[in-house]
Amino acid sequence: MVTSRTLLAQLVAFDTTSRESNLALIDFVWRYLTDLGVNCELIHNAERSKANLYARLGPAGKGGVMLSGHSDVVPVDGQAWSVPPFALTERDGKLYGRGTADMKGFIACMLSAVPHFLAQPLTQPLHLAISYDEEVGCLGVRTLLDALAQRPEKPDICLIGEPTELQPVLGHKGKLGMRCEVQGAACHSAYAPQGVNAIEYAAKLIHRLTEMGERLAAAENQDARFDPPYTTVQTGVIQGGRALNIVPAECSFDFEVRTLPKDDAQQVADELERYAHRDLLPLMQAVNRDTSIRFTSISGYPGLYTDAESPAARLIAHLTGTDSFSTVAFGTEGGLFHQAGIPSVICGPGSMAQGHKPDEFISLEQLTACDAMLRRLAEWMCL
Ligand SMILES: [Zn+2]
Repeated sequence: MVTSRTLLAQLVAFDTTSRESNLALIDFVWRYLTDLGVNCELIHNAERSKANLYARLGPAGKGGVMLSGHSDVVPVDGQAWSVPPFALTERDGKLYGRGTADMKGFIACMLSAVPHFLAQPLTQPLHLAISYDEEVGCLGVRTLLDALAQRPEKPDICLIGEPTELQPVLGHKGKLGMRCEVQGAACHSAYAPQGVNAIEYAAKLIHRLTEMGERLAAAENQDARFDPPYTTVQTGVIQGGRALNIVPAECSFDFEVRTLPKDDAQQVADELERYAHRDLLPLMQAVNRDTSIRFTSISGYPGLYTDAESPAARLIAHLTGTDSFSTVAFGTEGGLFHQAGIPSVICGPGSMAQGHKPDEFISLEQLTACDAMLRRLAEWMCL
């Protein structure tokens, strides 16, 4: 058996920053599993530069448990690392390297456990999934889920090993990122009323978003399981204008909506769009017919909240020995699995407090505890 620590060192050595190909890592995992006699499938992107890996072991048939992780990592650009990011360095019981916590540590434990799962009389299938492009909007896993949707043998439960320090997590908010492009009409600023000031109309829209955010934060809309306990709206980028003496013809801004499970981000976006088209556009077009306001979606993933009484929640409570469930602020692929009809929970080694930062690490103790958790899963799958 190869230990999770050894496998983690091998996985960290592949630079799988989302902008790079992950095929070298996927090929390594494919070889490892094939050598153990496990059938693997690769689901490539359109350019065939990246792939998801899917494998199934144990008895054929429906149901079973899926272990899922993403192979990509966030960039190290501009970060001050005191160790090489794409090599594993051990110091005082901590293993340093990009992706150790988020989330090659879990993938290492999952791969290390495969020989053990193979040696057990499993009564249900174990599914393994490794995706790409999670860090850039949970993109890669969508093609994997499309492929799975064609088959009868869908897993009953998915365990997403994002770092939660092995605490059971049932959910997170959903997110929708949008761009709004206001096309006004330029003119000399001395004749400002003859133009259509794109920045001023964008400002009206942003002000409206702020008001919508205040309404969503009202006490009656809160859900204490999340932090902050309400749906938030935020404008993060704005661009427009060339010179003070020109009425600006263009302004664009990006905003995001992070929703509680009960709220629909699209409804927020639709409300803004209605305001734009009903209240603002007629004023703009009264001055100049060639003006417009356009909205496009730029990123997003659905939220997740798995019922605390569901089999998925009961399993993770059993595996971790606690039913004090929580939620996390970061997004995961769990919302997409859930949407595809696979109830999901999040539980993995390491902490997101170290994720995405320089000198990212996972403690050896967390890695060992995750190995033990997967042993308990193997036991449970023999019942
Ligand atoms: Zn992650």
